[in-house]
Amino acid sequence: ADWAAAVAAVRRLPPDARVLLICHVNPDGDALGSMLGFGLGLRRLGVGRLQATFPGPPEVPEPLRGLPGMELLVPATEAEPEPDLVICFDAASTSRLGDLAGRLTGTGTALVLDHHASNPGFGDVNLVDPGAAATSVVAEELLARLGVPLDAGIAECLYVALSTDTGSFRFDATTASVHEMAARLLATGIRPGEISRRIFDNRPFGAVRLFGEVLGRARLEPAAAGGTGLVWTYATLDDLARYEQRPYVLEALIDPVRCTAEADVSCVVKQTGPAEWAVSLRSKGAVDVSRVAVALGGGGHRLAAGFTARGTVDEVIERIRTELDVPAVREGVDQQG
Ligand code: 5GP
Ligand code: MN
Ligand code: MN
Repeated sequence: ADWAAAVAAVRRLPPDARVLLICHVNPDGDALGSMLGFGLGLRRLGVGRLQATFPGPPEVPEPLRGLPGMELLVPATEAEPEPDLVICFDAASTSRLGDLAGRLTGTGTALVLDHHASNPGFGDVNLVDPGAAATSVVAEELLARLGVPLDAGIAECLYVALSTDTGSFRFDATTASVHEMAARLLATGIRPGEISRRIFDNRPFGAVRLFGEVLGRARLEPAAAGGTGLVWTYATLDDLARYEQRPYVLEALIDPVRCTAEADVSCVVKQTGPAEWAVSLRSKGAVDVSRVAVALGGGGHRLAAGFTARGTVDEVIERIRTELDVPAVREGVDQQG
């Protein structure tokens, strides 16, 4: 990682510099938390003309709307002047930036902060650490190297990012240094119980019932010889409409699905358009699901990856089976009966 170049890119900004912060489409806790936390840090450094934005639907998931620094979020318009510095957070590839990808190739410097192994390094300066549990780990180190002290606002943003991407400090990426970072963040006085209740334990009743229906149609395909158990389910736009829920509530749906003891690989297929799906994949360790996701046009990490797909649910699952080399189960002979 090119820390010296990243520090220099921030330090050489003129006093009236414009800085544009961007993150991936359908931003999650790490994308928003690392972007807004770093933005608050730049504000402490005296950067006045700061704008944070993301591509696609401008909606922030309700549990993340209380993040400090939300006032930095302003929708991007075509007419804006060129920023002196563009900083991109948590996006594995430019395809995750939609219309905003063009902002990376302007006259200003493009700085990329990320932790996806598949990131090709599409910025002028790239801080990509596949060993980092979250992009916020990279953001915290850059703030430290810039001499920005943590305050409670910055810390809350970075804590939300760190706790969401580590599954509340349960995943393999949860190293001693992750807990050391969490300790530094908590030392600012932020309240982890309060934050966790707001971020994780905060689901509309309609979403609880929607999860019930969608989990009820989950299918378990037992491991074939040399293969691996696959559990999957799907949710349609009609499901969302019947329970009057926003699409982001489905992001947490993979969590109860991936608990399935009999399956090494879990999958949730979420409808985003007439024949369009966002697919989430998780692995218990034996299978590299990022390989599957990359093969099907997406990306991610070894144990958590995703892609977008067209067609029917059955076609999408069949593509995953093929990549996993799991033979398709015959109609009606799955474990759920
Ligand atoms: P999730 O299943 O939570 O949406 O995403 C899990 C991981 O897969 C994240 O690290 C995310 O970056 C990656 N991912 C999800 N969907 C896509 C996609 O459509 N394209 C790419 N390149 N990565 C994705
Ligand atoms: Mn993310
Ligand atoms: Mn991340």
